[in-house]
Amino acid sequence: MIYRGFSIRTEFCLTNIRHLCILLRNPNISSYREHFPRQGNAKTTMLQFVYSSHPGRVVFGAGAIGHLEREIDLLGARRALVLSTPEQAAQAEDVARRLGSRCAGIFARAVMHVPIETAREARDEAARVGADCAVAIGGGSTTGLGKAIALESSLPILAIPTTYAGSEMTTIFGITEGGLKKTGRDGRVLPRTVIYDPELTLGLPAALSATSGMNAIAHAVEALYAVDANPVISLMAEEGIRALASGLPAVLAAPRDIEARSNVLYGAWLCGIALNGCAMALHHKLCHTLGGSFNLPHAETHTVVLPHATAYNAKAAPEAMRRIARALGATDAAQGLYALEQRLGTPTSLAAIGMPADGLERAADIAAASPYPNPRPLNRAAIRALLDDAFHGRPPAA
Ligand code: NAD
Repeated sequence: MIYRGFSIRTEFCLTNIRHLCILLRNPNISSYREHFPRQGNAKTTMLQFVYSSHPGRVVFGAGAIGHLEREIDLLGARRALVLSTPEQAAQAEDVARRLGSRCAGIFARAVMHVPIETAREARDEAARVGADCAVAIGGGSTTGLGKAIALESSLPILAIPTTYAGSEMTTIFGITEGGLKKTGRDGRVLPRTVIYDPELTLGLPAALSATSGMNAIAHAVEALYAVDANPVISLMAEEGIRALASGLPAVLAAPRDIEARSNVLYGAWLCGIALNGCAMALHHKLCHTLGGSFNLPHAETHTVVLPHATAYNAKAAPEAMRRIARALGATDAAQGLYALEQRLGTPTSLAAIGMPADGLERAADIAAASPYPNPRPLNRAAIRALLDDAFHGRPPAA
């Protein structure tokens, strides 16, 4: 399957014909808020939204890696630098072999959170070998390294995701300097081409498949109640949750089942689009805080926090909750997410993934300190209670 996105921004409002327009300009939430101040969680049933899509080509299917040479040609590239983590060096070598003379070298030193030192080394290596493209095979850490190169050089990236994190679909980058991870958005870092080949995910360990899949679901959950939610992304988000919630148990039962892997990767693609298409809220803020300040593992943190952040927002975003529950085949969104995690055997407590008990107060302070859009207003005491439930692995609050 091949999918091409379009670089177009659509602003739509049924209440006023003046607002029905197509604007070819950079996405900017603040300008959208000026146009449509009542959007988001306001008590109006009228449709009002901004929808931005981004250029990008997706080649999806078992064996899709076989199209790599063609895709490199379509990018007009001749010298690709292949990126991976040390653990996936063998997959990087396979990519290099497929590229033949189009491979300029391999940089197999990607690590979690893109330390600036690694980014500099990779940028230097790209310049040294005269690369005109980067091929990133791996999860969010490897894609992130490719983005760090593109941010400075505008080198096109071809991403080959092997987890469900979704970074390949976003303009979001993150670089860690002096212990602080700085994130931002820049169109230059969006991979030009993405090859999704479920065969490359067959070796993703079952436990990591489960938590990575829950990380993907988290993007879709927050897109459904985002301040800038829109009907197109909501369709994708709900379908993404459905594909992952039905596919993940099948992957856990048979990790080498290509059909199950394909369904889950399809869901991850949709959830990645949802992450890029809407502003994330409390859940992502909490996970960023817990990962950045307490060095907790990325996918596991998302997994543990998700049912609790969903419960926090439940009353303030009833329509989103209805859609999440429907996609899960459950009667309640937060309880349905918790039940899915129990079925998948993922960690359900922050304590189990390394959170120190004496860090909960600081985590609550950070999450409540800087304002950001969230369906339910940020309340420090309620966030602290949420963290307590997550720390002890209790079911989400009713
Ligand atoms: P990861 O990329 O760190 O991978 C975890 C480990 O699994 C690595 O050792 C990796 O080599 C290995 N692995 C990956 N695929 C494998 C496979 N198929 N078989 C065997 N091993 C495999 O983990 P991740 O969860 O994909 O990414 C996390 C990082 O991505 C975080 O730093 C997070 O902040 C970032 N991220 C960024 C965005 C964005 O939009 N910028 C989105 C999601 C995640």
